Amino acid sequence: MALSDILQKIRDEEARTGRAPGSTRLVAVSKVQPLERVIDVLDQGHRLFGENKVQEAAGKWPDLRDRYDGIELHLVGPLQTNKARQAMELFDAIETIDRPKLARTIARLKEELGHCPKLFVQVNTGEEEQKAGVLPADADAFIAECRDLGLEIDGLMCIPPVDEEPSLHFALLAKIAARNGIDDLSMGMSGDFEKAVAQGATYVRVGSAIFGERVYD
Ligand SMILES: *Cc1c(COP(=O)(O)O)cnc(C)c1O
Repeated sequence: MALSDILQKIRDEEARTGRAPGSTRLVAVSKVQPLERVIDVLDQGHRLFGENKVQEAAGKWPDLRDRYDGIELHLVGPLQTNKARQAMELFDAIETIDRPKLARTIARLKEELGHCPKLFVQVNTGEEEQKAGVLPADADAFIAECRDLGLEIDGLMCIPPVDEEPSLHFALLAKIAARNGIDDLSMGMSGDFEKAVAQGATYVRVGSAIFGERVYD
């Protein structure tokens, strides 16, 4: 599917569900994709991208930022504390704040660097063992802890279990955000981004539907 088709589907779903036009932004998740596919999407005018690994992003985005104005980059994969500094220098948003140690590290670096990307707390809505994110029951306390450290939490992010109805997870994330006064919701991927728009996503993270299947070698 082309970029323009995805954007159109988002606009259609916004209209169908009474969302304000343009209230959902598309994060094009470019991890593992060959550079020419990424450049093709940049040449179509898209500027908001997601990567899941700091190292991989560091290898491609500084050059691309030199060549294209207005690039915004989101980290959508887990962040190790020893990569936090590099992540804060490279990304405009970190969507995967998920534990006190990481929050404390980011708070310290924020002081030191004098700037901080937008921050999202990742919530493990499906309470899956193998998945990152705070448990739904711990989310309010963790958000409060981040705020006590001087961090602004702009959004929440989730990745629903593959075998469950994603809308229930999107609705849960929206509920947690609402009761904590948080505006941004990053939810929905290639297979379910329209459902996420219907549940109030302000960011959808779409990879393979834009770029084609990822080839790992
Ligand atoms: C890879 C990835 C995506 C995009 O997945 P697709 O199914 O290819 O759209 C979205 N979010 C996260 C966190 C990812 O790691």
